[in-house]
Amino acid sequence: MKIFNKRTCKVCDAICCRYITIPLKTPEIIEDFENIKWYISHENTEVNIEEDGAWYIKLKTPCEHLSKNNLCSIYKNRPEICKEHTTKSCEKYNEENFILTFKSVEEVNKYIETILKKGRHQTI
Ligand code: SF4
Ligand code: SF4
Repeated sequence: MKIFNKRTCKVCDAICCRYITIPLKTPEIIEDFENIKWYISHENTEVNIEEDGAWYIKLKTPCEHLSKNNLCSIYKNRPEICKEHTTKSCEKYNEENFILTFKSVEEVNKYIETILKKGRHQTI
C-alpha cells in the first residue's frame, strides 16, 4: 500500500476546487450592508472577514474542470491562481483564518446592532 506524504491532494476531495472567493469593499456605512444581506440571501454563499480585516464573498460552486475523480481535467493549463494554491496554505491542512462568517441576514443584523452599540463600525 502506498503511504502518502502528510500533505497531499491525493487524499482530498478537492475542497479548493469547489468554491471561489471575491474581495469585497469593506462596509463603511450601514447602507453598505444591504448588499451583504443580498449576497448571502442566495444559496451557497457566505461572507467572511479575514484576520487582516479584509472582506470576501465565498461562492460555493464546483469548478467545471473538476473531474469525477476529484482531479483537474486541465491540470497543465489551469489558471495561475490554481497553480499558486498549495497544500502549504490550503484549507484541508490549515485552519481558515476568518474572524467572522456571515451565513444569514440575521447574522448581519446582529453584527450591525453590535457595531451600533459600540458607536462605530469595526470588526469584532
Ligand atoms: S490543495 Fe489542499 S484543498 Fe486543494 S486539493 Fe490539495 S489538499 Fe485539497
Ligand atoms: S481549474 Fe483545475 S485546479 Fe483550478 S479550480 Fe478548476 S479543477 Fe481546480
